[in-house]
Amino acid sequence: MEIRYTAIPAERLEAMRSAGHDELGNKWQLRVAEGWEPLRCCLRKADVDEDIALICYTPWESPSPWMEAGPVFVHHDACDGYAEIDRYPAVFLNNKAILNPFDHSGARAYDHITFLEPEDDHEQAVGDVLGQPDVAYLHARSGTAGCFHFLVRQA
Ligand SMILES: [Zn+2]
Repeated sequence: MEIRYTAIPAERLEAMRSAGHDELGNKWQLRVAEGWEPLRCCLRKADVDEDIALICYTPWESPSPWMEAGPVFVHHDACDGYAEIDRYPAVFLNNKAILNPFDHSGARAYDHITFLEPEDDHEQAVGDVLGQPDVAYLHARSGTAGCFHFLVRQA
């Protein structure tokens, strides 16, 4: 199975930067990184003193009763995005995670929600969930804070 790990689309971020606010109206505001913040534009950890922004983001692109929006850190200015699209982003390995899957109609696939401990094989778990015939894609979220990390689907 070929799997694609997807960061926030660059075009959506660029539209927010030019508008001066995120899609929910929060100001696009410069913030100086402390060096622990996981960035959802390129799926790595921020370096100390990097220019970042804290925005509210929803991975949905059209209205849905399943839509959830929440806080994510991104680069303040455009970055190169995430290149290793077939690899589970290293910075999110060895963490507690939630794999939150959706079916082909866009409804949550409750039977396949998966909670991962740091020592679990995260890539294997993603493969197992996406291998279920009724699962179309999944959102990987923080297992401690619930924040959205990235979207995963079959290539
Ligand atoms: Zn970035």
